[in-house]
Order: sequence, then C-alpha cells, then structure tokens
Amino acid sequence: MKILPNPQKSENISGLFVIGKNSKIFCENEYLSQAERLADLIYGSCGYFLQFTDVIEEAQIIFSRDDALNDEGYIVMISEGVATVTFKDIRGCFYAVETLRQVFRLGVKQDQITCADCYVEDSPKFAYRGLMVDLSRHFFGLDTLKKIVELMSQVKLNVLHLHLTDDQGFRLQIDKYPLLNEIASVRDGSEVEHDGETYVDDVPHGGYLTKQDVRELVAFAKEHCVDVVPEIDIPGHTVAALAAYPQLSCTGGVSEVRKKWGISKEILCAGNDDVYKFVCDVLDEVCELFPAPYVHLGGEEVPKDRWCNCKLCRERMSALKLNGYDELQTYMIEVFRKHLEAKGKRVIIRNDGVTPTTDVDIVSQVWTPVKRRKGAKAQRGRQIIVSPRKYVHFSRSYSLLPLKKVLRLDAYKGVKKADRANVLGVEGALWTQHIENEQQLFYQLLPRLDALAECAWNKRKKDFKLRLQSRLAYYKRENLAFNDKYLKNKDNLNKNGDTD
Ligand SMILES: [Zn+2]
Repeated sequence: MKILPNPQKSENISGLFVIGKNSKIFCENEYLSQAERLADLIYGSCGYFLQFTDVIEEAQIIFSRDDALNDEGYIVMISEGVATVTFKDIRGCFYAVETLRQVFRLGVKQDQITCADCYVEDSPKFAYRGLMVDLSRHFFGLDTLKKIVELMSQVKLNVLHLHLTDDQGFRLQIDKYPLLNEIASVRDGSEVEHDGETYVDDVPHGGYLTKQDVRELVAFAKEHCVDVVPEIDIPGHTVAALAAYPQLSCTGGVSEVRKKWGISKEILCAGNDDVYKFVCDVLDEVCELFPAPYVHLGGEEVPKDRWCNCKLCRERMSALKLNGYDELQTYMIEVFRKHLEAKGKRVIIRNDGVTPTTDVDIVSQVWTPVKRRKGAKAQRGRQIIVSPRKYVHFSRSYSLLPLKKVLRLDAYKGVKKADRANVLGVEGALWTQHIENEQQLFYQLLPRLDALAECAWNKRKKDFKLRLQSRLAYYKRENLAFNDKYLKNKDNLNKNGDTD
C-alpha cells in the first residue's frame, strides 16, 4: 500500500471498495468535522457530496471511537462494502482521514472512487514530530506558515516550532515593549553571497507576526492537529532586541539590528534585574498567545565575553556562589523555567545550553554533538528532541543532505536502550539565512519533510521513494516548489496529475 508515512501495520485484503453517489457516512457529532473533511475531499475528487446518516446500518463509511487504541492512533478497515474508521482521539481521527486521502487517491480527479479492500492499524512512534522555521533571518508571514501547517499535517507531523527572535530580527508583536516591533523587527541590510563573494547589501528587511496573525495561525494549526511552539531565544541571539533596548546589554552599546549572520558577543546582561523583568513580561505575552505545552528558550551559542567584563554579571555570580559563567546562564534559564512552570509550560533549550545544573524537567533539543563527560552527564535522565544538523537541517543543499541521508535519521542513535523512553521525538529545522523567499523555502523543505515524517512516525520502509511519488505529484498540482530530482517519469504524470 502506498501510505506515507509508513503505517505500523497495513495489508490488502481481496475485494474492491467503491464509493458511489449514494454512499452514506455515519459519524458521532464530536468527530463530525473530520467526517465532513473527508466528504469535502471526496467531493473535490469526484464531484458528488455524500449524505450523512444516523442509522449505522445504512452507512458505507463509519467513524467510531475506541478508547482501547493508542494516543493519535487509528484503524481503517475496508471490507465487504464498508469502510470503518476507529480512533481514540481527534488526532487519530484526523490521521485516519489523511490515510484515507492517500488510499482513495483524493485530490486526483476520478469519476468514481475505488480501492482495494485493506486493513491499516497505526499509531506514532514519537509523540513530538516537529519542524522548526526560522522567521528571524528572513520573515515569512501567515500565509506561508499556514501552507506549512497543512503540508505537515498531511504526513502526520504535529509541532510547528517558530524561531521568532534572533540577532537579525524580532518577529512577534509585544505590546509592553513597542520598540521590539518598531526597531527590532527591521534591519537595514543582509549578508549575501554572490559569485563566491560575501558582502552586506543595503536592502532593508523586516516584518513580524501580529497578535491577530498568531491567533489565526494557532486556530488553523489546531484544526490540523498541529501545536505551535514559540521560541524566544535567550540570553544570546538577542541583538535585535538589544538594538531596541540597549540598556539590557552589559555595555549598553548595541546600536543596530545585526545584518551579518554568525554569532554576536552582544547578549542579555545576567546581572541586571531589568533584564529578568523584560524577559518575564515578554514570556507572559507569549504564553497568552500560544496554548502549546512547551516554550523554547533557545540557549545555544552564548559567548560569555561581555559577562566576564561586566560588573553586574560578576556581582550576580558571586552573590549566587556560582562556578563559572555557564552556571550563570543556567541560573538565568532557571528563573524563566520557574516563571513558565507556574503558567503550566515546560521549557525546551538546545543541548549546548544544557549544563549539569540545568533542571531535569527541561527538555534538551539535541542538534549538535553532545560533549563527552560533562555534556553526557548534563543530558542524563532528561527528555530529548532529536535534531542532528547533519540529518535534518534542511537549509543545507541537496548535495550535502540528500533525501537518503534524511531517511537515515535514527532518533535512538547513541541513546542507551534503557533511556529510549526519554526520546520525545524528532524535529527538522529550516534556518533561513540563505532562504529569502517562499519558493526557496519550499524547495529546501520538499520532499525532505516527507522523509522526516517517515522517520518520526514509524520505522522507515524501503519503498519510500515509490510511496513518495503521489506526494510529489500533489506538490506539482499545487504549484509548490520542490526538488523534482526524486520525481520519476517527470514528463509522464497522467492527465489527472497523478503518478501510477
Ligand atoms: Zn552584564
């Protein structure tokens, strides 16, 4: 069967299922939105709209709940003229419809929908199946993000992580600090590469998500069973915010939003009480907007040069009797962890920001190799999200990161068997230093998103590229940019825009 991502269990049964004009759907009210979604997809494919019935015996498509199934899991049983969909929760119901979309080849024009009888029993290997999009280096607005959410949900990914702030731009409306939007959301130029030469151009770049944008995105994502996890990166990667409020740095000397990429020495001062108030205020507005259970605080790549030379930072460190500046960073993160915990949120930070004194409740996003000894000790007993840059940083060129390499992503690599339960899931990353427009964004993402989903959902299966073909045909129909190197028979899509 051509289902992507590969389900836990699937088999064809002898027999043929036909959806005719008079077929009927039975569904309890609670899940009606999903049954209607299926009816809409069927209408879009073959032009007739199925009726709903209250009498289960009259129905050819039956939706029903079964509390014994796994979270997000479902069973599709198509046999003897009836397609029965069972699930435990709304996500399982949503994913069952996505599987039926593939089994019935919905989206492709058909006179009548037919498929082989079959049985699919499915649930995800990982609860956290994410994609990060960097909105700071280049800004992408609501329409692009909605498209990404839709594509993610079709392959059963469930977390959109937004990298909202960095040196090159602060991308979220914050009412209490209006200069974050007036000043921190715009830069006067960007580092560009041209003919092997690197220079800074003078083309302004700006934008940010308004609160209304976020509300709309979160509601749209919820309909697609996707959580939107916000990231406010601290204490490093904060030059844009510091350009707006330079008094929050150690030197007070930050004068503009950074135009170059790379790592800046300018970071939030760890000894200034106003910094703690500022970050807590920002996080309060963030928590009001994003209902997801996680808030990402970044924490990566923090040069401590400024802290070493700052009277306030040194005083804070000795008052707290801390051993070194890494512990000072950990102290900072802990202040915000407690603030967020009181609001029912859990913190994620990147693994290079995790130290042996980092609270064990903090989730570590492992993107760069963990340092032996000290690093390993810091990670012990901690939940992790696996995002190795060699496998899932989709900003890399396809020559460096071909699809087959993404498919080799192994979330358990280097994890002891006893610690496997600590792997929350996997996440891909779209860093946008060199992604300037939507076309480039989707080209870098597709079809690597499908390979990510294959690894996040279950064990990958060898026939991935075969199952991928109908996804690629879909991208083509939808006019989305994608790497068509993986499309077989490029000129041979049949007249319905499908591959056989
Ligand atoms: Zn300082």
